[in-house]
Amino acid sequence: MANTLGIIKPDGVRRKLAGKIISKIEDSGLVVRGIKILRLSKGQAEKFYAVHEGKPFYSTLVEFMTSGPIIVMVLGGHGSIEKWRELMGATDPAKAKYNTIRREYGTSIEKNVVHGSDGPETAKTEVAFFFREDEILPKE
Ligand code: UDP
Ligand code: MG
Repeated sequence: MANTLGIIKPDGVRRKLAGKIISKIEDSGLVVRGIKILRLSKGQAEKFYAVHEGKPFYSTLVEFMTSGPIIVMVLGGHGSIEKWRELMGATDPAKAKYNTIRREYGTSIEKNVVHGSDGPETAKTEVAFFFREDEILPKE
């Protein structure tokens, strides 16, 4: 019953998709255990995406992720990591399955509306990047 990190990226917040995305999250059985809206500094975005440092899309990704407010969420419930990745869809919206968030709302491989941790280890470090333990609702 591990938690995972979800982010509504600046394109999603700017386009007022947050309500629709959170509805999909709750309808899927995932539980929102923590949520906040904030704007990343350049340093924070660089650190969060450090695994991609050196890749051709790194600097534009950092620029995009700092371009406006984001909504960060702790998502829990059975199989939350896989469930959230499934609901988001593939990185490239054009290749994502129908009825996924990225397929429905993504406009490019970069502006793909949402982020999700890719495994148990990253979920732990990414949740801790944004939330203290006492900011997360306990599992019921
Ligand atoms: N990204 C990009 N160009 C690429 C690959 C990725 O701009 O060719 C961006 C995109 O916003 C993606 C993020 O970098 O969500 C992180 O990439 P990753 O491969 O980890 O994809 P994800 O785990 O988000 O599906
Ligand atoms: Mg990733």
